Amino acid sequence: MAVAACRIKVWCENVQDREDEKVRAIYPDGMHNTIADGLRELLGEAASVSTATLHEPEHGLTQAVLDETEVLVWWGHFAHEDVEWDVVERVQSRVLNGMGLVVLHSAHLSRIFRTLMGTSCHVNWRDDDEEELVWTVAPGHPIAEGIPHPIVIPEQEMYGEFFDIPAPEELVFVSSFRGGEVFRSGCCFTRGLGRIFYFSPGHEMAPLYFDPVIRRVIANGVTWAAPSTPSGAVRDDSYYGELDWFRPSGVAPPWPPVETRVRPPQ
Ligand code: ZN
Repeated sequence: MAVAACRIKVWCENVQDREDEKVRAIYPDGMHNTIADGLRELLGEAASVSTATLHEPEHGLTQAVLDETEVLVWWGHFAHEDVEWDVVERVQSRVLNGMGLVVLHSAHLSRIFRTLMGTSCHVNWRDDDEEELVWTVAPGHPIAEGIPHPIVIPEQEMYGEFFDIPAPEELVFVSSFRGGEVFRSGCCFTRGLGRIFYFSPGHEMAPLYFDPVIRRVIANGVTWAAPSTPSGAVRDDSYYGELDWFRPSGVAPPWPPVETRVRPPQ
């Protein structure tokens, strides 16, 4: 029996790679298409990869699209605050209900990552185009499989500690920089039924998303974050039906989806 390919959506804000000549020269097809190409190349038939950007209606992330998505990859930088809270809440709900989320580089300040972490997610920062070494600190972790130790990135902006996130459940990579700074650059979390992987390398001013090693890390992250059941709709009767010793009074299965309320008071 053929197994359905994991349905992956690569979301990028597509602002600098549209409007900034320097970034457009590096990513003429847009960062979303470059990241998606890397996943197609490495995951082959195991993946069905599509893209969405900020400029589409509902940012290309309607409920129907998200219901079909098993892993969402997120890159943002300039336009975090332009992402509608309705969409953020929808993505959060899908993560809590089992969708995987891979958060890249400057998306540490995205509304969805801040919402899921519950902290400011700020970093120490300096942009001096310097070498970054990405050290594997969990060699047995599936995301580290096939990754050189360390990854050497010749020119990168510096993200350093303190990185204001909750303690990661698993730490896969730690980066070091010429200035002596260190950074938790590959972090794993779970929220509800969903898995979240944050990976910091991926500056828009460098062609890092064409780099085979960086592509491999992202592909490994997507594979790790994919829900373990073949369907995107993880939270359903078959999952909670097994827990028949547990019955919230007055509520019969299927349980209603996890309720979320993340938007700050207006
Ligand atoms: Zn950057």
